[in-house]
Amino acid sequence: MLKSDRHLTANASELLPHHDEIFWPRRLLEAVWISTALTLIAFHFISLTLSIGLRFPWMPLVMLAGFVTADFLSGIIHWIADTWFSDTMPILGQRLLKPFRVHHVNPDDFLRRNVLDTNGDVAAIVIPLLIAVFWISTTDPWPAALAVYVVSLCATGLPTNQVHQWAHMKNPPTIIRWLQSSRLILSRRAHLQHHKAPHIDNYCIALGWCNPLLTAINFFPRLERIVTRLTGLQPRHDDQKYYAALEAESIDG
Ligand SMILES: [Zn+2]
Ligand SMILES: [Zn+2]
Repeated sequence: MLKSDRHLTANASELLPHHDEIFWPRRLLEAVWISTALTLIAFHFISLTLSIGLRFPWMPLVMLAGFVTADFLSGIIHWIADTWFSDTMPILGQRLLKPFRVHHVNPDDFLRRNVLDTNGDVAAIVIPLLIAVFWISTTDPWPAALAVYVVSLCATGLPTNQVHQWAHMKNPPTIIRWLQSSRLILSRRAHLQHHKAPHIDNYCIALGWCNPLLTAINFFPRLERIVTRLTGLQPRHDDQKYYAALEAESIDG
């Protein structure tokens, strides 16, 4: 069994690829992004509740659609980051692709990242969407539904990496353990399934709700075959350097 299939000892983890260190100027920026995103979500939640009230009784279904979309998008982004392109590509290679690839060969290193490192980038992505909601009128049903959908999507998407990190903790806070065991958020057991090589299912990490259906219909392997047929790209072609480090450590250790 490769060591990617289980958590590594502290010593073994030190020898493997690591996440980039984050220094205080970026931490400060990430703190600004996270607090701005949280403030916008709280503002929209109060404002939409007051302006819509009970006028549209079907609105909870729109919220649910926002939650499910956020979970599905977390799976798509995770799948792209795990599967395609090289970590040498500009900006996204370092910020998006490398963390996911390091994470497969050294999962415990993710636990070193603090709350700002973990959540800052997603906060920066949802802020423009949350700002756009200010231009949506809530007088008529369809625009009101769009506003609720976008805010629900952003509120669920914002803590995606946090939920993912909780799924790696052996002893998360009690309330988080309850949410995980109730399947309201991604559970440790469901996510560890993704960490079994070759890492081709359970990509959704915001809530984990879409994973059973996507796995049952073989969604991501089918999508990979379509992408390869259309573009000629080979999935996970860039993984070798990460797995070489893992295999070397496996032989030595
Ligand atoms: Zn992955
Ligand atoms: Zn993980």
